[in-house]
Amino acid sequence: MSKVPITVAYGDGIGPEIMAASLRILEAAGAQLAIETIEIGEKIFLTGNTSGIPEKAWESIKRTGIIYKGPITTPQGGGFKSINVTIRKTLGLYSNVRPVMSYYPFIDTRFHKVDIVIIRENEEDLYAGIEHRQTHEVYQTLKLISRPGSERINRYAFEYAQQNGRKKVTCFTKDNIMKMTDGLFHKVFNEIAAQYPEIEHEHKIIDIGAARAATRPEDFDVIVMPNLYGDVVSDIVAELTGSVGLAGSANVGDKYAMFEAIHGSAPDIAGMGIANPSGLLLGGVMMMVHIGQNDVAEKVHNAWLKTIEDGIHTGDIYRDSTSKQRVNTEAFADAVIERLGQTPQQLPAVKYSVSQPIRVTYQQKFPHVKKELVGVDLFLHWDQQGRDPNIIGEELSKLNGDHLQLIMITNRGQKVWPAAFSETFNTDHWRCRFMSPGEMPIKHHHIISLLQRAANAGYDFIKTENLYMFEEERGFSLGQGQ
Ligand code: NAD
Repeated sequence: MSKVPITVAYGDGIGPEIMAASLRILEAAGAQLAIETIEIGEKIFLTGNTSGIPEKAWESIKRTGIIYKGPITTPQGGGFKSINVTIRKTLGLYSNVRPVMSYYPFIDTRFHKVDIVIIRENEEDLYAGIEHRQTHEVYQTLKLISRPGSERINRYAFEYAQQNGRKKVTCFTKDNIMKMTDGLFHKVFNEIAAQYPEIEHEHKIIDIGAARAATRPEDFDVIVMPNLYGDVVSDIVAELTGSVGLAGSANVGDKYAMFEAIHGSAPDIAGMGIANPSGLLLGGVMMMVHIGQNDVAEKVHNAWLKTIEDGIHTGDIYRDSTSKQRVNTEAFADAVIERLGQTPQQLPAVKYSVSQPIRVTYQQKFPHVKKELVGVDLFLHWDQQGRDPNIIGEELSKLNGDHLQLIMITNRGQKVWPAAFSETFNTDHWRCRFMSPGEMPIKHHHIISLLQRAANAGYDFIKTENLYMFEEERGFSLGQGQ
């Protein structure tokens, strides 16, 4: 078999130790890999490159299309962007797959039956990283959820379930509050679910969903989520199994894929040679399946299960009650290599049948309905006259005219004009909704002349959001209490 080119980044902190151990195991099992090594992360950040990824590294990644990556430290402050987010978004790795299992009774955990695959949307949501400080008191981040993004990840989840014999897909969102963004994700989940009638589906609001996943993980099979919820819930679920050091992760797109552990660079134990390489190794197993070397994936995974079963454990999972031998990273790798060819006796052995990488395209073109501009939300930085909403309401009403009238003011989303409650706390950030009478269509120049009147009156407007109707559907939320 010819060698498959891959790009390897050893990473920061414990990265070099666990990557060396994982590669040693994969190669001992017969992995056919042509490795190109790149340097990304902390050292590159410190040369002043704020992306942390030099051009040479991108060239290798584009050439091989497959990245096997150790954890990377994102220095705090200094404007450094997370490399993981940059790679995921640049390469369109829209799907993050995180299988999490418990290995009871061999690894101590209160939860004996965890077998969950978290499928996390990887490109959108609050990770758009579009943040602004708008007033002295208020900062903003944009949460972006798209139809193609929601469709691809939900379809990926059902395709994954089908290909891997999974029975149920659960979706977590917070669409009781974010009716438009999370509402879209949930709606698309239902549409896609209807195309896979053999797979059970359910939706839970993220708060109760996460609480249930943390207390009754046996109730879940595949869980699909928008980006931020997926990030949080996958760490919670991984920790239930005994250590965050046990889970691997695949970031998959149409052309590229990246494999890693779910944990970080663990600076507290870096250089000590005691880190658990299991998460990165299991990420490597997912990579071997992805590149079609299923026999190697199976051999490594089963030898790893046997090592765990034999009680040979690194410090993070070592317990007197369940473990037999406490080992460091290298000795753990040696133990796995010794067991290549063996299968676990009590834990279920894995079998990787030959499968194609899941390819999902945006199939359901969303119908372009008539879109009409009917008003504008004008956001103001206003900190005068005791922040009295009645005063700003009265003053701003003087800007009415030319098809636009002030109908509502909110402060942090809560309606404060007309009919303010004196108890409502007000910041210096006001959203002022101007609409055309009867929501009649208006033109951009009506908004421009409103802005001109606001500027002439000395208002500091910090941004505008246009209000659209999409045929009968309102393209904006109402104010809280409106
Ligand atoms: P972390 O996951 O690095 O560590 C959390 C705790 O778990 C620590 O006590 C650590 O010692 C332990 N731990 C983690 N992996 C382990 C392993 N393999 N074996 C034994 N113990 C292990 O999380 P953190 O401390 O919040 O983050 C440290 C750095 O890692 C930060 O700079 C963060 O940005 C980065 N990070 C990177 C990735 C990634 O590259 N994918 C993911 C998460 C965090």
